[in-house]
Amino acid sequence: MEFLASSLLELITQTATNLPPDVRAAMSIASGAEAPGTQSSQALSIILSNIDMAVEDEGPICQDTGMPTFVVHTPVGVNQIQIKRAIKEAVAEATRRGKLRPNSVDSITGKNSGNNLGEETPVIHFEQWEHDEIEVKLILKGGGCENKNIQYSVPCNLDHLGRADRNLEGVRKCILHAVWQAQGQGCAPGAVGVCIGSDRAHGYALAKQQLFRTLDDVNPVPELAKVEAEIMEEANRLGVGAMGFGGKVSLIGCKIGAANRLPASFFVSVAYECWAFRRLGVRLDATSGAITSWLYRDPSRPVERMARGEGFPLTGREVILTPPLTEAQMRALKVGDVVLISGEMFTGRDNVHAHLMKNPPPVDLHGAALYHCGPVMLKQGDRWMVKAAGPTTSSREEPYQADVIRRYGVRAVIGKGGMGPQTLAALKECGAVYLNGIGGAAQYYARSVEEVLGVHLMEFGIPEAMWHIRVKNFAAIVTMDAHGNSLHADVEHTTGAALAALQKV
Ligand code: SF4
Repeated sequence: MEFLASSLLELITQTATNLPPDVRAAMSIASGAEAPGTQSSQALSIILSNIDMAVEDEGPICQDTGMPTFVVHTPVGVNQIQIKRAIKEAVAEATRRGKLRPNSVDSITGKNSGNNLGEETPVIHFEQWEHDEIEVKLILKGGGCENKNIQYSVPCNLDHLGRADRNLEGVRKCILHAVWQAQGQGCAPGAVGVCIGSDRAHGYALAKQQLFRTLDDVNPVPELAKVEAEIMEEANRLGVGAMGFGGKVSLIGCKIGAANRLPASFFVSVAYECWAFRRLGVRLDATSGAITSWLYRDPSRPVERMARGEGFPLTGREVILTPPLTEAQMRALKVGDVVLISGEMFTGRDNVHAHLMKNPPPVDLHGAALYHCGPVMLKQGDRWMVKAAGPTTSSREEPYQADVIRRYGVRAVIGKGGMGPQTLAALKECGAVYLNGIGGAAQYYARSVEEVLGVHLMEFGIPEAMWHIRVKNFAAIVTMDAHGNSLHADVEHTTGAALAALQKV
């Protein structure tokens, strides 16, 4: 198996940096469907540019590596222990090269292993099959969309849709509800893998397995093909739009499988996948480990450029912000304004926010822009280089954010997916704003970082540390302002009404 290690490293690198053609096609259609100048259209412009940048730089499409999940089929007689060892080595090497973010955290101590290896990480499923070659498929599904997975035990009552019964109509309601509840927090437009039946644990695994189907295939089970088509049409009438900004395209794929269930249980398990739908596969020669063919992509075809223009289309109406920010500047902003930040900012996410509840910040946060971001950083010599730096889901900081704003004088919180009523109240009281970046646009935002000025709280690990960076023309949209307005609350309200209109019985 002399080529096994290099083949696996190439699989991981391509999966992390180059979206498969079916996802590219779906995103191109999504972008064409949105009216130019709308917030969804602007978000999609950045996303398309980001996809191109990731290929150009061979950098991670999104900073969130997710839980690398491998599905391996081997001929009878192939040594699976050797393959498992090679997968782990390839994962560690890809992390060392900055293709994957160190993402594996000890659930008891909170310590990041630094190389994506640890208890049950990465996830590897083995199956034997009656073919001569080895097949390895890989999906990288980040935490933002993973957190929006949802499981229904029907019969149940659903917001806006009423009762879901134990039949395909009930399943249809559950899936529509799953798309709606994700809003922008899973980096819409997304796709859903669904399992009808099974038990709780296996149902989720089978739902994720559906994400290995291509977006343009047709379900071989006619009843399920019908529900998939129906969901695609109806979910795209909800109006969630890219990043939950409101818009025409909320879903780029719906893939449903069914498994037998117990008489007493009827689960509908939904794996929500973001637009950064990173999954690829390879067939390997069982003797040498060399790649004989790729799944989902044809490497002989040139990768087509996605962006039609240059990243974020500027109108000249953007508000330029240079931290430290003042209360008057923040109160002058309103929902829908586009800002370009140039100057210094700090990252801070889950561990930093929890830390700030009991400890003073390691830096002065008065007037600061605080970026919810867990970047991919590589040390070259004695300097840190940013390899990927998109926003993370802000709602996780809702229990802390209002206190952080009130106590430490933060003026702008940057993240994705929006925040809740406690933060909105603090923004109004203190004169601060929430700025929505474009989730997953890790390369786009990495390019806006001019310099890493320092790092604090490094004991939390690279993604969770507080990075001090200087940015130039960092683009974001005001989605929660200092006057009590929230685009997220508005979109949730209007999409809830649209969901109710899809109730059939
Ligand atoms: S695109 Fe969004 S949801 Fe997907 S992995 Fe990146 S940050 Fe997470």
